[in-house]
Amino acid sequence: MTRHARMVILGAGTAGLTALKETQRHTEDVLLINDGPYGTTCARVGCMPSKALLEVAHAHGRREWLAAVGIGGSADLQVDLAAVMAHVRVLRDRFTSGAIQLALSLGERSIRGRPRFLDAQTLEVNGERIHADAVIIATGTRPIVPDAWRVLGDRLVTSDDVFELVSPGRRVGVVGLGPIGTELGQAFAQLGCDVHAFTQGRTVAGLSDPAVSTSLLEVLQRQMSISTEATVTVRRDGDRIMLDNGTAPVAVDWVLAALGRQPNIEGLGLDSLGVALDERGMPAFDPATLRVGDLPIYIAGDVNQQRPLQHEAADDGRIAAHHAMHPEAPCLARRAPLGIVFTEPGAGRVGLSYRELPASGMVTGAADFSRQARALMAGRNAGLMHLYVDAADGRLVGAELVAPDAEHLLHLLAWSLQQGLTVNEMLQMPFYHPTVEEGLRSALQAARRGISERSRQPDLPLCRKPIDWALG
Ligand SMILES: Cc1cc2nc3c(=O)[nH]c(=O)nc-3n(C[C@H](O)[C@H](O)[C@H](O)COP(=O)(O)OP(=O)(O)OC[C@H]3O[C@@H](n4cnc5c(N)ncnc54)[C@H](O)[C@@H]3O)c2cc1C
Repeated sequence: MTRHARMVILGAGTAGLTALKETQRHTEDVLLINDGPYGTTCARVGCMPSKALLEVAHAHGRREWLAAVGIGGSADLQVDLAAVMAHVRVLRDRFTSGAIQLALSLGERSIRGRPRFLDAQTLEVNGERIHADAVIIATGTRPIVPDAWRVLGDRLVTSDDVFELVSPGRRVGVVGLGPIGTELGQAFAQLGCDVHAFTQGRTVAGLSDPAVSTSLLEVLQRQMSISTEATVTVRRDGDRIMLDNGTAPVAVDWVLAALGRQPNIEGLGLDSLGVALDERGMPAFDPATLRVGDLPIYIAGDVNQQRPLQHEAADDGRIAAHHAMHPEAPCLARRAPLGIVFTEPGAGRVGLSYRELPASGMVTGAADFSRQARALMAGRNAGLMHLYVDAADGRLVGAELVAPDAEHLLHLLAWSLQQGLTVNEMLQMPFYHPTVEEGLRSALQAARRGISERSRQPDLPLCRKPIDWALG
């Protein structure tokens, strides 16, 4: 007996569940097959518990500033790391519950098991055969752990297990300072742990602009020891782990391996699809429609490694389901690229990153947040904003920044970029005083000074149409 379904979705993460909701606009004839824990990576071991931990850490990180501005007693604050971790898990469980309910709401159409393609339209799971009109692969990724590191046993921790630590030791090694390693490294440092971090690159937190990255490194280096351009070896020495980058070995209680993530495609039987696979075992797919060749198969979310972020995984799920239901439909446009790292100060990029800029024709507008008025008042004066602007037409094409309240600045920039605004048009927007957004205005003004065509009019919109802004 072969069961039939109009749509089969592999993976009950953000991409899979969004694809499910998009599919259900057209049909209820859908099966959801998940192998592994329910609740989504984002809510279970990703975005949500990490930000819950960072909120507590950033609050504790304010104690020295509080003491400096006349609020006594903060030096006596005690961190109960076990209580902090328990608090994170309570919030985590609250955030995962909705996703678990949604996945299981399908009843017998929600299948727990590891699926395998027999051919492009036939799958096998738990010994049952399923014929599908269309399949969406949304199986996500998992942390990379070198085999040689397994000897560290339970002292080796990834983002998959860090939030399960009941009472983490206070000497912490972090290997890899991409967004995940940087966020979690700073969190444990701000909570009073002795953090030693190593990264192979020169920049941190996924930033590619050296000056912007340096502005974050300067803050982090006051909180933890950091070795950049470091290749580190690890070994267990009794009850401790020795980390060695060829200079001075350090002893830690546990190591967070934040070395990147790899797609969950083993055992899916992708070699049965009849299409070429690359050296990683991935089939080629259309980056716009996410369709694998001309097969009724779509590959969505982190597993496709295009944009490994929660909102992009959700959009992938929408796109994949839309095209699976309407293969001839015109493709849907992507939103402006936006990535945020929730350190303090925050970091991130929109549009083109520094690394992706064309070799010529760009102007950079800078703002230094170490001297920005509102940031100074808050004792959060650190960071650098670089806006990348097309010198020919003044359009914003991208930005990298480190700044207080970076997440909000990055949203303003992403929305402006998606609207195709020029620096002149952005400068016509309201800027309240005193705010960190005034730092954005400084960067826009700096960019405009570098553009050949200068604005001859004040920074106000023209009276094209009468708008009544009367207050009250
Ligand atoms: C520590 C950390 C912090 C993060 N912070 C942020 C953040 O602040 N903001 C942000 O935008 N993004 C963040 N991310 C990234 C974000 O979590 C991911 O982009 C998002 O969760 C990807 O969703 P997905 O649906 O592709 O994968 P997942 O949510 O991982 O879903 C994949 C599903 O497939 C299942 N599965 C695995 N293998 C199989 C198989 N063979 N067959 C069937 N099912 C399978 C899994 O059990 C899982 O349920 C963070 C990630 C981490 C790890």
